Amino acid sequence: MNASLSPDQTKVDTVKLLIDGQWVESKTSEWRDVVNPATQQVLARVPFATAEEVDAAISAGQRAFKTWRDTPIGARMRIMLKLQALIREHSKRIAVVLSAEQGKTIADAEGDIFRGLEVVEHACSIGSLQMGEFAENVAGGVDTYTLRQPIGVCAGITPFNFPAMIPLWMFPMAIVCGNTFVLKPSEQDPLSTMLLVELALEAGVPAGVLNVVHGGKQVVDALCTHTDIKAISFVGSTEVGTHVYNLAGQHGKRVQSMMGAKNHAVVLPDANREQTLNALVGAGFGAAGQRCMATSVAVLVGKAREWLPELKDLAAKLKVNAGNEPGTDVGPLISKRAKERVLGLIESGIREGATLELDGRDVSVPGYEQGNFVGPTLFSGVTTEMQIYTQEIFGPVLVVLEVDTLDEAIALVNRNPFGNGTGLFTQSGAAARKFQSEIDVGQVGINIPIPVPVPYFSFTGSRGSKLGDLGPYGKQVVQFYTQTKTVTARWFDDDSVNDGVNTTISLR
Ligand code: NAD
Repeated sequence: MNASLSPDQTKVDTVKLLIDGQWVESKTSEWRDVVNPATQQVLARVPFATAEEVDAAISAGQRAFKTWRDTPIGARMRIMLKLQALIREHSKRIAVVLSAEQGKTIADAEGDIFRGLEVVEHACSIGSLQMGEFAENVAGGVDTYTLRQPIGVCAGITPFNFPAMIPLWMFPMAIVCGNTFVLKPSEQDPLSTMLLVELALEAGVPAGVLNVVHGGKQVVDALCTHTDIKAISFVGSTEVGTHVYNLAGQHGKRVQSMMGAKNHAVVLPDANREQTLNALVGAGFGAAGQRCMATSVAVLVGKAREWLPELKDLAAKLKVNAGNEPGTDVGPLISKRAKERVLGLIESGIREGATLELDGRDVSVPGYEQGNFVGPTLFSGVTTEMQIYTQEIFGPVLVVLEVDTLDEAIALVNRNPFGNGTGLFTQSGAAARKFQSEIDVGQVGINIPIPVPVPYFSFTGSRGSKLGDLGPYGKQVVQFYTQTKTVTARWFDDDSVNDGVNTTISLR
């Protein structure tokens, strides 16, 4: 078994590496448990691969690249068509595994898979996405055209919070462009990722084109420094993302690093009250706040301050429970460590003088007493110096700030170092237009709480939330995973007139 949950819970399966099309049991002595965050049940054990195993995965990618790069585009595309059909077919089964290892609700797990599936669907149109350009007669009888060629072995390093969507941001687009890939999933919840990798093999991805290694810092650093890796896609925390960007950059690789966030929702008093409050609560506490695009700050402008009691009442109604239980709104945090960290930040908010409107610290979930639960937590009276504002909490904690005008709100958001996502809630087109123009954040929602672009656009987080020019998926990622070659060509007939020697730089 490569990834699924064992039906025999007395035996714990090991997660395999994928090297050159073979499922490999790691020879490492370092293993980590994959734990159900609602029950603490150990679901599997994941290896921290050895240096030799990482090398073997990269070498397999390097060998496979020699033939895969020349595989006809239609053949690559058809594998993606098959993969999208297989993901659709197996989505419900994978969602159960994803919910068990990550904690999110089954519906949200299906959403996680669906948002990744959309990228695979987009990969099916690589025929037009990877087209070059052509200009006829740039000089007498001379044409210029560009080729978008794959770059070699690429690697992807993914976070725990979207174990389906984020691996699917990476390897389908990389390999459909003609590259080979080494994936390093999150060691906290690799099982659903591995089910998707199994489907990729079933869809026809040849041996060595997609490889998987598991591990932590050592494995990541080995990928970032290996001569044969040409590009690194990273998604995760700001601390690790900055390290990866610098290390891989120093080793001459293309790098894109999508990192942490503090996403503000600005609420004007003319907004649709009910819709806005629903949006704030859904985006603030959904997935237990463990989304890089979660709304973690609400900025109430002018009379919208009066909406605070309603916001609190709505948040208090959310049902905290295990992700697989019907009717759950907020599942557990990924680990005990993550819970401790969130509780520590809530303590800091109280200590630093914010008003704790809703306290999720002592939530108890019958039947899941060991779960890493924190209930919806709401702070008002928050200032920009407090840790609950300056730090990404990555838990079900929404902090409320108050300002008098839209200008003040825009200045507040623009002073925050992160630039992943933001939203404005209003009925005024003029306010919305001003906001979208003046706000310095890469992804803007107008009455949309989590404005993650669909895959024919690109994910465009900015400033402190991203390093590297090009984002994952969309047209930008085709640029990231290919290099442009420009060909300037002239053809002579046997009877063409002799041009003579030209010692200038100009084309004639
Ligand atoms: P993380 O940074 O702890 O881990 C991400 C990856 O890096 C994992 O594969 C992990 O094994 C590896 N890693 C961990 N420590 C490392 C180290 N010291 N050196 C090298 N590699 C290391 O992130 P996480 O907790 O899994 O994910 C949550 C974070 O990801 C949040 O900050 C969230 O905002 C961010 N995130 C960002 C986006 C985005 O698009 N901007 C999307 C999803 C998540």
